[in-house]
Amino acid sequence: MELFKSMDLGEEPQKKAADNAEVEKVKCLIIGSGPAGYTAAIYAARANLSPVMYEGLQPGGQLTTTTEVENFPGYPEGVTGPVMMEDLKGQAARFGTDIRFGYATAADFSGYPHKVTVDGNKVIEAETVIIATGATAKYLGLEDEQKYAGSGVSACATCDGFFYRGKDVAVVGGGDTAAEEALYLAGLCNKVYMIVRRDVLRASKVMAERVKNTPNIEVLWKHQTKGLTGDGVVEGAVLYKNKGTEEQEEVNIKIDGFFLAIGHKPNSDIFADYIDTDEVGYIQTVPGSAKTNVEGVFACGDVQDSHYRQAVTAAGSGCMAAIDAERWLSERS
Ligand code: NDP
Repeated sequence: MELFKSMDLGEEPQKKAADNAEVEKVKCLIIGSGPAGYTAAIYAARANLSPVMYEGLQPGGQLTTTTEVENFPGYPEGVTGPVMMEDLKGQAARFGTDIRFGYATAADFSGYPHKVTVDGNKVIEAETVIIATGATAKYLGLEDEQKYAGSGVSACATCDGFFYRGKDVAVVGGGDTAAEEALYLAGLCNKVYMIVRRDVLRASKVMAERVKNTPNIEVLWKHQTKGLTGDGVVEGAVLYKNKGTEEQEEVNIKIDGFFLAIGHKPNSDIFADYIDTDEVGYIQTVPGSAKTNVEGVFACGDVQDSHYRQAVTAAGSGCMAAIDAERWLSERS
């Protein structure tokens, strides 16, 4: 299953380094090790930028938590997420990327060179910074989401829908993402339930209309998920209808796939004081480039892409970031 490609800077509080922290100077610092980060590393290393990469809390990003990847070009037989990320890592290392375990805990882009604190105890002074920290799909917080991770629970219909051809699935959420995912799945699956907690979709009118006009999508209004059932793999979901009211009741549905589509959180918190983001936190890049509003700081992958969120698009933007960094440096030398 192809999934997003991110590392999670998580909810960690910003940790600035102590005044006597170790300082290291680098030409190109890459933060994050999904397809965007590794691709940036391959290009930066081949351009003699001697990139240093910090892998983050989840080395390899979210692809490492998935199974089969079938939609990344170049793997005609498919590949597992962890193997693909090892391949990318090996390719980045082959050209000399210094790949390190550790995660960025604070950033200071107020002067130059840029300063990024790693693990709260080391400061990297970087001539260029490539932010590839990804975005994290939001989950409901149910234990069953962990229990059935990779066994029927997914946060990406485009990535995993193929595995549910002809089956019954559910999508949680009522926004544009949920509508889009439900419509995509409706083209593959026998039946798609949309589990919507209110009696209205947050999605745009056009999308809501499309959902309404798709015969094999059934919207379960005012439903919330209590848990999932199944022997090793998802076989059903238990829902609350009208939760918290006198009419509350439990509803069981038979499904093979349970897709979360309740939003994503870009991992941009530590950069927020300096880097322009949209209201959700996605980093804004200059269209057609990986440039941010701060000179010498570039962004690629899911942390700046709320729209496509695919491994291959992340990889493409990682290439852009490295080329932009290399050109930015050469213009100044
Ligand atoms: P949104 O925040 O727009 O929608 C999230 C949905 O999930 C809402 O229906 C929300 O319910 C529901 N939800 C949130 N938390 C829970 C929960 N704990 N339990 C149950 N339901 C929950 O996120 P999207 O990812 O859909 O969209 C993000 C942005 O990207 C939006 O601006 C959207 O328009 C845009 N987008 C545009 C697309 C396009 O133009 N083609 C495609 C995809 C996204 P509630 O409404 O009750 O809050």
